[in-house]
Amino acid sequence: MRKQVIAGNWKMNKTHTEAEEFIQAAKNEVPSANEVESVVCAPFPFLQKMVEETKGTALEVGAQNMHFEESGAFTGEVSPVMLKELGVSYVVLGHSERREIFKETDEEVNKKVHAAFKHELTPIVCVGETLEQREADQTMDHVEAQVKKALEGLSDEQASNTIIAYEPIWAIGTGRTATSEQANEVCTHIRKVVGDFVNADAAEAVRIQYGGSVKPANVDELLSQSDIDGALVGGASLEADSFLKLVEAGK
Ligand code: 13P
Repeated sequence: MRKQVIAGNWKMNKTHTEAEEFIQAAKNEVPSANEVESVVCAPFPFLQKMVEETKGTALEVGAQNMHFEESGAFTGEVSPVMLKELGVSYVVLGHSERREIFKETDEEVNKKVHAAFKHELTPIVCVGETLEQREADQTMDHVEAQVKKALEGLSDEQASNTIIAYEPIWAIGTGRTATSEQANEVCTHIRKVVGDFVNADAAEAVRIQYGGSVKPANVDELLSQSDIDGALVGGASLEADSFLKLVEAGK
């Protein structure tokens, strides 16, 4: 039985004060970690405070990106060593906004996944198709290629411990959710790809989130699908009461 993982992705939102208010409101209200994994992926400047304030609670803290190198002349970048030292547990990698706006490649995403495991961070690797790709019937091939590239060179255990977030780009921030059947169809395919590319145990263990306009009103239906093991949520994770409804649904 796979445990659901509900992760908020705040993207480039909130002030330090707002982050603090969210943490105070949410940290003691999330369900126990035995029932569901509750994660907030926040901008870098808030992470240290958030890790400190959530110590001893079931609320986990994640970053939204990192470099794959450990240190060096990479102005403006943040390394996995720095995140680990802060006590961050998760890191979102290869989000479609980073792939599209910041031109991150599959190769870089793969290096980052390796770096995450080296430093004991759990990677949440995002994959998903554009509207054009969906309309051209390329969704399965595109997502399959992204998943294989992301998992390339990992041990079977690392592959099993990767969280894959299926986020159709046309459903992100648009209010246009994939139907639960559409979402599940792709997640089922991703699980099959993991089975073929790694092994059957990894396919059974790997957790696959859906992301794209998830909100309290549609989360139950999405999470009830056979191959959806959680959600990666942007807009509806920004307010504590909404985030808490989402994590409740993951129980
Ligand atoms: P929304 O939930 O705002 O559509 O964002 C989804 C997303 O990109 C999460 O990573």
